[in-house]
Amino acid sequence: MDNMIPQDRFEVENEWHENGATIKQIWSGGDRNFAYILEYKGHVSAIDFGHGQELLKAQYPQVTEYLATHKHYDHLHDQCRDETSQNSALDFVETIFTPGHTEESVCFLVHSKYLISGDTLFIDKIGGTSDEESARAQFESLKKLAQLDPEVLVLSGHNYGSKIIDTLGQQLLVNPFLLRLNSFEDFYWLKNNWAAYKIENGIK
Ligand SMILES: [Zn+2]
Ligand SMILES: [Zn+2]
Repeated sequence: MDNMIPQDRFEVENEWHENGATIKQIWSGGDRNFAYILEYKGHVSAIDFGHGQELLKAQYPQVTEYLATHKHYDHLHDQCRDETSQNSALDFVETIFTPGHTEESVCFLVHSKYLISGDTLFIDKIGGTSDEESARAQFESLKKLAQLDPEVLVLSGHNYGSKIIDTLGQQLLVNPFLLRLNSFEDFYWLKNNWAAYKIENGIK
């Protein structure tokens, strides 16, 4: 699988059905980006479509809402450069404020079961931060996420892990950053030594 942005058609990587809603995980190319489509009774939300905006319009002309987990170009659609971009009109989409990777980062929790986690939490990894203060904010955000139901599925913004999706409960057992949520010092140490840690532990 190469990292080209799809030209003809977005492929649906995974699809879930929950209480009348459909959640589609879309391979959107770039830096192994995932975007998401959420459909419910004719309401269609496009989430994290920074890439492929023309194609999105062609393939999903019925989109009524654009959301972004944060304001990085690979996630932010042109249509959501306003204040409402991080709140869904659907009441079963809960916005969880998770600053750290960027100061405005959020996650979207759909039906209390699917966590669209942007660049806050990846499978086996987490998003980068720029300094100690933002790392501390991310540490607090991840502690907040760790309180969610362990059965929650983590649907992240990039395909960076050893698998495409996982449960939060399983990630709490294997993600080396989530294993360090008891101590900011340990957590921050891993952030600062991540490159060496990856080599030592054979992580790609
Ligand atoms: Zn980002
Ligand atoms: Zn990203």
